[in-house]
Amino acid sequence: MNRDHDFIVAGAGMVGSAIAMGLAGAGRRVLMLDGADTDYRAAKANFGLVWVQGKGYGNVPYQRLSHEAARLWPDFARDLERETGIALHYENGGGLHFCVGAAEFEDRATRMRQWDANTPELPDSIEMLDRGALVRRFPMLRLGDAVSGASFCGRDAHVNPLRLLAALQAAFLRRGGVLLSRRPVENIEPRAGGGFVVHAGADRYAAANVVLAAGLGTRALGGMVGLDVPLRPQRGQILVTERLAPLLPVPASGVRQTGEGTVMIGLTQEDVGYDLNTTAAAAARMSRKALRVLPDLAGARLVRQWSCLRVMTPDGRPVYAGSAQYPGAWTALCHSGVTLASFHAGPLARALEGGALPATLDAFHHERFDVSQAA
Ligand SMILES: Cc1cc2nc3c(=O)[nH]c(=O)nc-3n(C[C@H](O)[C@H](O)[C@H](O)COP(=O)(O)OP(=O)(O)OC[C@H]3O[C@@H](n4cnc5c(N)ncnc54)[C@H](O)[C@@H]3O)c2cc1C
Repeated sequence: MNRDHDFIVAGAGMVGSAIAMGLAGAGRRVLMLDGADTDYRAAKANFGLVWVQGKGYGNVPYQRLSHEAARLWPDFARDLERETGIALHYENGGGLHFCVGAAEFEDRATRMRQWDANTPELPDSIEMLDRGALVRRFPMLRLGDAVSGASFCGRDAHVNPLRLLAALQAAFLRRGGVLLSRRPVENIEPRAGGGFVVHAGADRYAAANVVLAAGLGTRALGGMVGLDVPLRPQRGQILVTERLAPLLPVPASGVRQTGEGTVMIGLTQEDVGYDLNTTAAAAARMSRKALRVLPDLAGARLVRQWSCLRVMTPDGRPVYAGSAQYPGAWTALCHSGVTLASFHAGPLARALEGGALPATLDAFHHERFDVSQAA
């Protein structure tokens, strides 16, 4: 048996690494156990948006949570860069959602008005820019003829997600945390007097708390500690071009130019189980869509196409929950782990450290689901 820890975090992806970093910063002894190289790792294959606009449409707590995370991001990014020396390529000049045709522009305006109205305590976040206003705001944009305008949200941002993951883990290690890779958690035994024994291969680790943040791998672990969550994978495919001269000043939903100059084009939302294949049909669809907005992309060479699986709950909202049956067991799951990283490393880690989730997170408890679906 290895020495006791205050927390064992299962999963060193985007969610686990952020939480573990926050816990280690509070002086807790934290062990993070990560899975195999063949695991599904959304942390290493995502789009890198820190996105607010439209997030949580139809679900106000999720909308508020996204606003809160975006508000925390600038300080979070600055502090993380200072602590680790890793440049995150975080840019928070806002984000666009392009509209093609007049009807799409009107629909978007109606939808975003309704969305903004759900949070009367916050200043409105969306500006609808018709084509003329869009070009005046961003004169460098060379738009396709059919673009009618865009919704703009000044709180949207983007970041290099690989650098973000590396920085979260570097900060965790600097703060005294221990990270063991290729050591997947296989079993969690609640101890009679409280706490847990975590089995990973031949090793056993004891801790007062366990945090299940293993993405899709959490499905296999939750039932051991009364935290069954009915997760499903959702495939997202992405294309990336060679490096190009600047052509998109701020990120947009479905297309963004990275700090290195490459342009990422996406994204599909496909319910195909655990199938990680990429498809020519998706590549053609995404390319056509991007070209309608930014025709200059026609001359760009595509250098890569990949797919990865989102960690989806039945209603698409995050899950933050403690186990009623086994106090000290927690779980955190979401499909916006980049956007929410500032919240996970800050307020969520502090709440876990204090031993209770705030009432504002009640809406994210897993008991909202029929757990018989979790099997
Ligand atoms: C195509 C695509 C685009 C996306 N774009 C965005 C975006 O623009 N903005 C945004 O905010 N979010 C985006 N996301 C979502 C974001 O990537 C995820 O929300 C985030 O990565 C989830 O983090 P996670 O830690 O839960 O899971 P992951 O990042 O998948 O990590 C899970 C980790 O758990 C480990 N693991 C598995 N089983 C075990 C076990 N038994 N024991 C220990 N460890 C285990 C794995 O090895 C892995 O390291 C996107 C996702 C996809 C698929």
